[in-house]
Amino acid sequence: MSKLISKRSFLKGFAAAAAGAAAAPLVHAKPGDPLPQKWDREADVVILGYGGAGASAAITAKDAGADVVIFEKCPQGGGNTAVSSGGMMIPNNRERAIEYLRKTYDFANSEKDDELLTAFVDEAMKSKDFLLSLAPDQKVYIYGHAGFQSIPESDGIDKWRFRTPKGQKTRGGDMLFNNYRYAVETVRKIPVVYNARGLELITRNDEVLGAWIEIDGKKEAVKAKKAVVLATGGYEFDDKMLSNHTMGQKFHRLGHPGNTGDGVRMAQAAGADLWHMNALSCPLGLVVPGLKTALQINMLAPSHIYVDQDGKRFVNEKMDNHTCIYGVNLLDAVKHRYPRIPCFVIFDEEARKRGPIIGGATSGYALNREDYKWSKDNSAEIEKGVIVSAPTIEELAKKNNVSAENLVETVKRWN
Ligand SMILES: Cc1cc2nc3c(=O)[nH]c(=O)nc-3n(C[C@H](O)[C@H](O)[C@H](O)COP(=O)(O)OP(=O)(O)OC[C@H]3O[C@@H](n4cnc5c(N)ncnc54)[C@H](O)[C@@H]3O)c2cc1C
Repeated sequence: MSKLISKRSFLKGFAAAAAGAAAAPLVHAKPGDPLPQKWDREADVVILGYGGAGASAAITAKDAGADVVIFEKCPQGGGNTAVSSGGMMIPNNRERAIEYLRKTYDFANSEKDDELLTAFVDEAMKSKDFLLSLAPDQKVYIYGHAGFQSIPESDGIDKWRFRTPKGQKTRGGDMLFNNYRYAVETVRKIPVVYNARGLELITRNDEVLGAWIEIDGKKEAVKAKKAVVLATGGYEFDDKMLSNHTMGQKFHRLGHPGNTGDGVRMAQAAGADLWHMNALSCPLGLVVPGLKTALQINMLAPSHIYVDQDGKRFVNEKMDNHTCIYGVNLLDAVKHRYPRIPCFVIFDEEARKRGPIIGGATSGYALNREDYKWSKDNSAEIEKGVIVSAPTIEELAKKNNVSAENLVETVKRWN
């Protein structure tokens, strides 16, 4: 039974889980909690959530001889994994990768556990073999390095992705998750139960015995003879958690609506502490009316600038997509407002005609599940009012409630 296990042994068991799994080796019992009268189902390993982390855990546990069942809240699997870019960070040099990652903790002033970090890098180095073992005839390629290139040793980590076979359209996260699905369902015949929402861990003293799961509307007690794995993703669709754990701003959501922080709450209810809750990956984006989720801005040409609500340029437009929140999260402590949220991307007619302002973006729920097709010349988005167009800078400023004097001066200086 899953008593407390060390962080290192936990990590070792689950190579190549996509980043961000909410997993917690815990447990403190709540004495007096009623145990189920009977168990409705049982398995050695009960996995909650069928994204990359759940799939990796299922494959690893099954290959170690366990009888595994995956329970997924939504009618399909995939989660954020399937709408992601499908990029996998794999160290090419152990020591340099550890050095780079240590520095990211240091500059974020973030609590670090060297044993965990080392185990992470050792296991991540095996990820390429793991990825290629998922399905036959797959190819992977390198398309970059670790994200923060001004931090030394960032090229000690390569960014890999599955190559889309000729004649196919599937890409990024869908390619990755299709391969997971093949490995889980076709090769290993691991059962996946859909419309099955994990509600609560069932614990006794310091043991996790199983989980309460709502399956097709009925609450069932599921016994886990060896472990429950919480792989329920993040919490971007939970407003309360966003307001408690992020920076107090309102964020648009980019990913999968199934991610409502359930696993984090289940772990907390069983006594788990939280760690590293103060950082976000957050590009700049916008929402097209009628869609649940946002689209990332990804300008195809450098002929654009970002300006704040005063019409002033405030940032190098080349800023890294994942950390844009840190470029805009400025509180004006005199006027008590956030002058960069929202901010505006200003571009000319040449840039409009060059291509969609979401550029080559292929990831995100809006494009991959809500099937939004951005118009090639941005004209449909102008019609929808998502992009505001005007014949002069002054008029553009007026339409957006921005100081015309400042915006004219900003554009003049930029030009
Ligand atoms: C647009 C976008 C692009 C990205 N690109 C990259 C990239 O290129 N490289 C990278 O490393 N990372 C990327 N990420 C981040 C990455 O996708 C996630 O960190 C990763 O997919 C998380 O995997 P996961 O298995 O933990 O969660 P998910 O893949 O989100 O899966 C969680 C699953 O759990 C289910 N679930 C939720 N609650 C319950 C419950 N109570 N019971 C049962 N099931 C439940 C959800 O429905 C979901 O299917 C990107 C994210 C986004 C949004």
